[in-house]
Formats: sequence, structure tokens, C-alpha cells
Amino acid sequence: MKNIPVIMIIFGGSGDLAHRKLYPSLFNLYEQGLIHDNFAVIGTARRPWSHEYLREQVSDVIHETHDQVDENEVKAFASHFYYQSHDVTNVEHYVTLKKLAQELDDRYSAQGNCLFYMAMAPRFFGTIATHINDQHLTGSGFNRIVVEKPFGHDLVSAEQLNKEITASFDENDIFRIDHYLGKEMIQNIMPMRFTNPLIKNIWSGEYIKNIQITLAERLGVEARGGYYDTSGALRDMVQNHIFQIITLLAMPEPKDLSSDSVHQAKQELLKSLIIPTPEEVKKNFVRGQYLGSDTTFAYKKEPNVDPDSTTETYVAGKTKFTSGPIAGVPIYFRTGKEFKEKKTRIDIVLKHINNPYGQAHSNNITIEVDPESKIYITINGKKIDEPGIRREDLTYAFSKEEMAKVPDGYERLLHDVFVNDSTNFTHWSELKRYWEFIDAVEDAWQKENEAGNPEIAQYLPYRMGPKEADNIFESPTEHWIYE
Ligand code: NAD
Repeated sequence: MKNIPVIMIIFGGSGDLAHRKLYPSLFNLYEQGLIHDNFAVIGTARRPWSHEYLREQVSDVIHETHDQVDENEVKAFASHFYYQSHDVTNVEHYVTLKKLAQELDDRYSAQGNCLFYMAMAPRFFGTIATHINDQHLTGSGFNRIVVEKPFGHDLVSAEQLNKEITASFDENDIFRIDHYLGKEMIQNIMPMRFTNPLIKNIWSGEYIKNIQITLAERLGVEARGGYYDTSGALRDMVQNHIFQIITLLAMPEPKDLSSDSVHQAKQELLKSLIIPTPEEVKKNFVRGQYLGSDTTFAYKKEPNVDPDSTTETYVAGKTKFTSGPIAGVPIYFRTGKEFKEKKTRIDIVLKHINNPYGQAHSNNITIEVDPESKIYITINGKKIDEPGIRREDLTYAFSKEEMAKVPDGYERLLHDVFVNDSTNFTHWSELKRYWEFIDAVEDAWQKENEAGNPEIAQYLPYRMGPKEADNIFESPTEHWIYE
């Protein structure tokens, strides 16, 4: 693997994401030689840490996340880390940061290549982007920026943020990260769809009755109540992860696997995304909040949550496209907190066919994304010793050894940033469409709130969300496959 010279600046170097995901992923890429001699990482945050202290932190996290490591390798890796105490709102601090970056660029022969990573609270993204521009932090080589989610709070704020970032970075150098796009089974959607005649040939409204996407979380809002209350399930999960999955399922076949072709196929599809009217939102969407139990708080009683909050911890809804291979096919989705289990899965439900055996179930294709990774297709056959039809699953799965080799989504995506592959990142024009959809739903809900009669289903914790979500289907023969 090529050794890529680069100085990486992480805004939020003392945070949870940096520790749990970025540092272990960087170590794995270091071990593979992608970044090796000519790289340095500057971790920034407000705390007055020293370089040495950050290096200790990095070493500790590598030991925690890796079973067996070579001590010398960890030490050598950590020696590439530098710490700069930095308040993102302080102009002077950017001047100091620039000086350090330039020194390191010389020391590590990084050829003027800079990678900025925004790993902190989203309200600071615009400020950081503006200062990068005003204080000329970009280098003379490549300049790339990774932006964490959420990218904006609605279309207007996303447009503003985009303007601030594009002042210093070209669209091709902006990596809007969505770690779902780094997941093994999400990356398996395209090969599954396009290499199997069995699947490719039935990928149309003629054969597919509906598609269902479930992103279920077991946990409640925990310590994030204050932030979550300003966001909600629609913005937190649908705007990014669920829409990415929907797009991969519904887009036309790209002409090849280049990043440009994949994004072209996505953008072609998204032009035909149907934006719901307020009446359609009322009919096709359900929002909910979890209730309490003996041992857990109801959402409205969680710390830092408004007791009259209308923020949803659950949403179910429907999307459709007017073009693409599955134009007209309803795509139902649901996501929420305090489900019975953590689970991400996609069910593709095929239409029934008339047959001489009478009532046989249709085939379903299920993609389990988390916590298991597998695809299975339900197949009908005969029962052995009695009349009737039996159903069995044909399963595509991985061995334990194979699963152990699957890199974390962050490692994959960081690799892609280093090698400049933006296939699995969100293009601005895609993000814009997602926000147009989300804004339409949020506006309809806001009007309901203002009219004083919001329909917010209250659901029991650790089950399957509100029963009202069973009524969003177009026909009485449809129902949630995963129950
Ligand atoms: P965090 O609160 O743990 O870390 C925030 C960092 O910002 C800390 O290093 C903190 O010191 C620093 N900071 C705060 N105010 C500052 C200021 N004024 N000046 C300089 N530094 C300041 O947050 P996190 O969980 O690491 O999340 C960071 C980003 O990553 C968010 O956008 C989040 O949505 C996204 N994200 C996080 C995870 C995760 O697993 N933690 C997963 C997906 C996305």
C-alpha cells in the first residue's frame, strides 16, 4: 500500500469519536503502511494537554481496542501525534495551529498535504470552516476535509454550512461522512443487486411489493437528552443513514464503479424523490416517544429534555420514487430508541404469485446489517411427510474468521479519504434532496404542534415501537416483516 504523506488536524482530539474510532482506525492504517513515515496528527481541543499526554492517550486506546500489539509499533505510531490546545472560536489559536502544521509538514515531508477532521459538536463546524479560510490554514498540496454528521439542522442551515466549507474546499475535497456507508452489508447492497440475475431481474415494481428498513436502537437518549431534544429520530437517523440505504436500494445501475458514476446514478434517482405533502405526512408517517418503565425514564422525564417536548424518539414513514428500477414501489422505514433489541435490517418483500398450491408465502430477501451480517432469501418447498408448503431460508453468511477480518466502518472510510475515493461519502446535491424531504415532514409536524394537536404516539419501551406504525401501509396485505 502506498505511504501517503499528510498532516491531519483533528478538531475534537480529546472527544469520544476520536478515541473510540479515529485513533484505532488510524493505527490499523498505519500498520498496513497507508500512512507511515510521512504523517503527523495534530489533536486539538480546549484542554491544556501536552503532546506526551495525547500520545499516552493514543497508546492506551490502541491497547484497549487491539488484542495483540507490538509495543514498539504502538510507540512509533504514537510518536506521530501532537497536541494543540485550541478554542475553535479564538482567532489567535488558528495562527498557532497553522505554525505547528507547517513545522510538522517540514519535519515529516508531508508535501503540503492537509486533512482536516471535524470531530466535534456540529454547532462549531461553520466556525472552524470560516477560520480555516480566513487564517489560510490550507496547505500547498491536497486539502481535504471530513465533516461529521449532522451536516446542518435543516436545508437552510446545511446550505449555510456548505457555503462556509466551499469557501476553502472544492466539492471533491469535502468528505461528508456517514459511517453506515462503511458497513460491510451496506457495501454489499450494490454487488447483491447487480451481480445476481436472480435478484437483478426481479428488481422492479412488477415483482417487488415493498421494501422495509428498520434501524432499531436498544438504548434511550442516555446522557445526550439536551442535544437529542433539538434533533429527534428523523434528523438523527433518517436524514442520513436511512436515506443512504434507500438510495442504494433504489438507484439505477451505475455505468461503472467509479465514484462519479455511482454519484451520478444516485443523483438521477433523487431527482424523482417524492416530497410528501402535509396530508401525506399525516397519513404515511408516525412519530412517537418512549414511555418509562420501573427502571427507566420516559423520554419526557429524561434529564435535559423539555417535559412538554414534541421531539420524536421514533419515526416510521414511507418514501417513493417516480423513476429508477423500483419506481412506484413503497419503501417503508422505521427507526427509534428503546426497541426490544439493537437491529439494522432491510426486508425486500416480493409480490405473491398465483399457484396451484394455494396460499404460499411470497419470497422475502432480508439483509441483516447489524449486529449480524447476512443475507437470506426465504424459499418455498414441499413438506416431507404431509401435504403443504414449507419455508426455508437460503443464507449468505460469513464465518467467524471472515467477520473478524471486516474492518470497522471508520477505518474503511478514513482509508477512502486518504486515497481520495469519495464513492461512499455524501455529495452535496444528495444531501440537499434528503433535507428537502426531511424539512417537508418537519414542517408538517411543526404546523400540527402549533395547532395544539400533535399526534405523538407514546410507546412502551423495549418492544417494537408504537402500534400506530402498523397502519402506514398502502394495502391491508402489507405488514412489517420483522416483528
Ligand atoms: P465529544 O463531545 O465527545 O467531543 C467533542 C470534542 O470537542 C472534545 O474533544 C472537546 O474538548 C472539543 N470541544 C468542545 N468545545 C470546544 C471548543 N470551543 N474549542 C475546541 N474544542 C472544543 O463528541 P463526539 O461524540 O466525539 O462527537 C463528535 C462528532 O462526531 C459529532 O459531530 C458527532 O455527531 C459525530 N459522531 C460521533 C460518534 C461517536 O461514536 N461518538 C459517531 C458518529 C458521529
